[in-house]
Amino acid sequence: MLQLPPKLPYAGTTIFTVMSKLAADEGAYNLSQGYPSFDCSPKLTELVNRYMKKGCNQYAPMSGIPALRESLAEKTSRVYKVNYHPEDEVTIVSGATEAIFCAVTAVVSPGDEVILLEPAYDSYRPAVDMNGGKPVYVTLRAPDFKIDWKDVRDKITDRTKAIMINSPHNPVGTVLTRKDLEDLANIVRGKDIFIISDEVYEHIIFDGMDHQSMMTHPELKERSFVCGSFGKTYHMTGWKIGYCLAPKELTAAFRRIHQFITFSTVTPMQYALADFLKEPEHYEELSEFYQRKRDRFIRAIESSRFKFSPSSGSFFQIVSYRDITDEYDYDLAVRLTKEIKVASIPVSVFYKDKKDDKLLRFCFAKDDEMLDKAGEILCRL
Ligand code: PMP
Ligand code: GLN
Repeated sequence: MLQLPPKLPYAGTTIFTVMSKLAADEGAYNLSQGYPSFDCSPKLTELVNRYMKKGCNQYAPMSGIPALRESLAEKTSRVYKVNYHPEDEVTIVSGATEAIFCAVTAVVSPGDEVILLEPAYDSYRPAVDMNGGKPVYVTLRAPDFKIDWKDVRDKITDRTKAIMINSPHNPVGTVLTRKDLEDLANIVRGKDIFIISDEVYEHIIFDGMDHQSMMTHPELKERSFVCGSFGKTYHMTGWKIGYCLAPKELTAAFRRIHQFITFSTVTPMQYALADFLKEPEHYEELSEFYQRKRDRFIRAIESSRFKFSPSSGSFFQIVSYRDITDEYDYDLAVRLTKEIKVASIPVSVFYKDKKDDKLLRFCFAKDDEMLDKAGEILCRL
């Protein structure tokens, strides 16, 4: 028998795959995996069609087509008043998952430590492990999940190579403040520590708060890989197109990896996005759009026995079920999918040791009817 080496021994199939399959098998309302239940703009699909018919069907340049890199650099300067050079500081990749993997691979060597804030999105730890790095965890404490920067400072050693940051946060829906950026800058100043900033929900932020991108702090910008995803912003998660914005030398290191992971990203979609990005209304209206969804879901579960504070960003709402049952969150998520036909994600999967705080994550990027129906059912628990 051939012996397979023990790669990622702790990783089974991702929870998103498991729960979406279970939801489909059970005919449940799928509020588990984070993707919209509604379609992207028809204008966007028409643009893709047009460019496919025009023959834009061969490999794109390794770093992305120039028109999209330029559009993205212009949009970034419009939104954040920060400049990245489209030629050597903007890279288009196949989803933020690839951006995160390439950024981690670009900076992490065997034995290096990477600080992860948990709960942490599920692809971070494998990216560190696959590079022989050592994840070092700082736990965000319920109920507010604020970052304790003293805790972060205490975990830094001579081997710390990077810190992963995610705002707005999946799964807990918190967002960084200006003070957080200042605290982080104070911690990394004078040290060889990179920042890998997962900002895929940059345009989904509520109650009048502003997204504090890593790029808006000059000291942090120079050491940051800012990773984004068009999938969240334009309701087409299945296209898997993302990007990385980083200073020239960091981008060069990033591209050295990207060129051997996927080499380049799907071509006609890039042309379509290059045009679509020039219309700011599509991302400018997103926060309001999702705030309405958040509020609708919250209203729908208001009279339930779940406890929650409204999410500040992302398209997720976490709720505590402590007053309902003391079951393990994974078991509860499976049981609810099977018995009451509402699927969610157990928050313990985002912790290294599967810490169970009796929390479930619901995705509210769903049509209103589904949010109402799911809410109605959850109120009966
Ligand atoms: N980071 C976070 C926090 C996410 O929630 C997701 C996916 N929902 C990703 C990264 C991956 O994005 P993509 O689908 O563009 O790979
Ligand atoms: N990021 C999405 C979520 O958190 C899922 C993406 C995936 O399935 N890999 O639900």
